[in-house]
Amino acid sequence: CKMLLGVTGGIGSGKTTVANMLGAKGARIVDFDLLARKVVEPGTGGFDNIVGYFGTQVVAEDGTLDRKRLSKIVFNDVEKRKKLEAFTHPAIFKAFFTRVKAISAAEPDSVILVVIPLLVELNLQYLFDRLMVVYVPRDVQIRRLARRDNITADEAAVILKAQIPIDEKLKFADFVVDNAGTLEETREQVEGLWKALNKVNVAK
Ligand code: ATP
Repeated sequence: CKMLLGVTGGIGSGKTTVANMLGAKGARIVDFDLLARKVVEPGTGGFDNIVGYFGTQVVAEDGTLDRKRLSKIVFNDVEKRKKLEAFTHPAIFKAFFTRVKAISAAEPDSVILVVIPLLVELNLQYLFDRLMVVYVPRDVQIRRLARRDNITADEAAVILKAQIPIDEKLKFADFVVDNAGTLEETREQVEGLWKALNKVNVAK
């Protein structure tokens, strides 16, 4: 590809929204959350390992993994979280590299956006040519998260505590989209950004 762009932000800051806008312009999107779901589908080694360790309490009625339940279990338990990551991360990264290689081979001039919520937390900056942060101030983030997930502002604040504050992530950004305004205002920034992304010369 022409450029591998890591896209991050905070939970609910608008990563998917912005990635979709750039996708409509022609960027190719790789979404870590989707890959993370794939590697724990029933029938995968990831699924078997997780159920083997956490028990059937993490299996939903339809036989798929109850990801909400699982994230609650590991939220305040570092040891269990590490276990879960050991079961999933290798497969996620393998799927990620396979996907990027396939797109690059088919479309050498593509700009590939890789959306990773915890990119900075996991120190994955080194994987990318450039980084983009989709930014909203903390209060907007809490408001949108509460509305989208139907939770209180206090509950949203607790979830945010598990992440590096979005303001700190800005330090790593080559590109910033300010998504605090209307979707139309974000779309306008995306227009300019798409041109800028295509001008970047990545030394390979
Ligand atoms: P997550 O980390 O949970 O995957 P995300 O960063 O991908 O979230 P989105 O899902 O794109 O964030 O957006 C979060 C919520 O905020 C969604 O309900 C979305 O529709 C809404 N939203 C995004 N941008 C705006 C905006 N500019 N104005 C109003 N609402 C917005």
